[in-house]
Amino acid sequence: MELTHLILDNNSFETKQNNFNKNTNDKKVYIETFGCQMNYSDTEIVLSVLSDFGYNETDDVKSSDVILLNTCSIRENAENKVFKRLDELKKYKKLNPNIILGVLGCMAERLRNELLIKKKMVDLIVGPDEYRKVPHLIDNLIETGEKGIAVKLSRVETYDDITPVRKKGVTAWISIMRGCDKFCTFCVVPFTRGRERSRNFKNIIDEAVRLSDEGVRDIWLLGQNVNSYRFAEKDFADLLNDVAVAVPDVRIRYTTSHPYDLSMKLLEVMAKHSNICNYIHLPIQSGSDRILKEMNRLYSVEQYMQVMKKSREMMPSVGLSTDIISCFPSETEDDHRMTLDVIREVRYDGAYTFAYSRRENTKAYYLEDIIDEETKKRRLDEIITLQRKISVEINQNLIGKIMPVLIESLSKKSDEYFMGRTDCNKSVIIPKEHSYVNDSGELTHKKSFSIGDFVNIEIIKVNSATLFGVPVL
Ligand code: SF4
Repeated sequence: MELTHLILDNNSFETKQNNFNKNTNDKKVYIETFGCQMNYSDTEIVLSVLSDFGYNETDDVKSSDVILLNTCSIRENAENKVFKRLDELKKYKKLNPNIILGVLGCMAERLRNELLIKKKMVDLIVGPDEYRKVPHLIDNLIETGEKGIAVKLSRVETYDDITPVRKKGVTAWISIMRGCDKFCTFCVVPFTRGRERSRNFKNIIDEAVRLSDEGVRDIWLLGQNVNSYRFAEKDFADLLNDVAVAVPDVRIRYTTSHPYDLSMKLLEVMAKHSNICNYIHLPIQSGSDRILKEMNRLYSVEQYMQVMKKSREMMPSVGLSTDIISCFPSETEDDHRMTLDVIREVRYDGAYTFAYSRRENTKAYYLEDIIDEETKKRRLDEIITLQRKISVEINQNLIGKIMPVLIESLSKKSDEYFMGRTDCNKSVIIPKEHSYVNDSGELTHKKSFSIGDFVNIEIIKVNSATLFGVPVL
């Protein structure tokens, strides 16, 4: 079968748009999101685009008219999860052949032929820069039966004019830039999400103010590499500063950073504003300069350590985390030991650790992988074990400390507890209600808390990933 390339010009959009609005006011869309926060933020954009055409989101896949998976390609494992889920979702299509099944995001761009032609799994494939076309592609599919594909990458699309449809809550993401120009040799992002482009400075500030007015207490500024944000003469430090000033009652966080672009000016802004979280996630990836060079990471271990040192000098209680890729092709035992040394020296609060995953189209794809499976497993285990030990030690030192915590959600494990976060991004489990006693042990009063409250919490118990605490007056 030939792949149907659907080319839509602006005129054909208009005609179809009218039809579409008439016919789809009661349509339901079900979306599942895989991968990073950027993808979750993109899902909110897709929902906004679709809501203008009469679509409402549903949590019930069975009753939906359109099922969309917003996908991630960063590792093979992430793609396998999506393939598995698509297989499961086929049963809904069997029950109701009119259900439209679509794939959005990074896999759409990377695996369009496989999904549409080879496996005949989906009706719709839309890449990260073409979300405005989703309703039109669905419309065309309904009218003509043609499968829809739109995967072109853009140098300008930022969805700046679209107000994301967000779930009600205390946390909100603001996407400030898209794409990446860094071309790390292991990474598919520049190929699946395109080149860097930044959103309008003022529009981001306005969005933050609007969210604050709506009750949001915690804003994440998002981008593949937020540190390379540029709009006219403004950089990311300017943006972070102005957001912090514009919404003084809101906690501000950001992700992700690239060490090459993280400036001293940014650290100064972080140190200056109490509502910017004391937290830096700075991926090192490897502790070996040779491997960093192979990865095209553009910094040395020494330069990275300088940033860590400066961060701690300027913000003594800063929370630090990182990403590490173990067993990049040609990694030797010495390279691996250097990574362990960095972990020991920095003493991260946490780390996201991954075994190297070979991705087609990347430069590293062509490097010979000489490391056997047993060694791969051992090295990753060593990294995880060391980091876990350090995380526990750091967290144990927090027992007895009182920390302000923003309550974000119910605890996943019990309805009697909330999950909140400290300023340095540690998860804290706290009771929903607390009985206060005086020095003689007599009950003085009880207090219930709500999502969105800032509460002073005394830490009483910890493990490597979570703190447990009780409210104090
Ligand atoms: S900085 Fe490197 S790892 Fe991060 S998105 Fe860009 S290319 Fe990928």
